Amino acid sequence: MDLELDLSEFCCLNEDCQDYGKKDKGNIRFKERYGKQNRALLRCKTCNRCFSETRGTIFFGLDTPDEEILRTLAMMPEKGSIRGTARASGHDKDVITKWLDLAGAHCQEVTDYFFQELELGQVQVDEIWSYIKKRKKT
Ligand SMILES: [Zn+2]
Repeated sequence: MDLELDLSEFCCLNEDCQDYGKKDKGNIRFKERYGKQNRALLRCKTCNRCFSETRGTIFFGLDTPDEEILRTLAMMPEKGSIRGTARASGHDKDVITKWLDLAGAHCQEVTDYFFQELELGQVQVDEIWSYIKKRKKT
């Protein structure tokens, strides 16, 4: 059932782990499927941390860690604007705009992140999306 998932393509994303960022070391194990999209949850045998198969792909290649990007996006409803979020987070507003576009293109994955990584509630997640969608229309 999980044959399509090539575990050698994944690496540990815990910076404190000795196998951090190393692919095909045999430390990544399949844990379980979760959510509507039936995503795989993976576990690193070396440090025992779990992460989703989509982790590290959406914001791949950016200098900022995923979690920091997500936390910044999660500030949007509270701060009310990109400018306000930029001030509060210390990230450039053009950079935040780029993250919003990326998040908008990967709604389901980003929603999974908000629930899983930041442990946000449904109401908070809905607020973030309504903000992102409102922004896209204008
Ligand atoms: Zn690890």
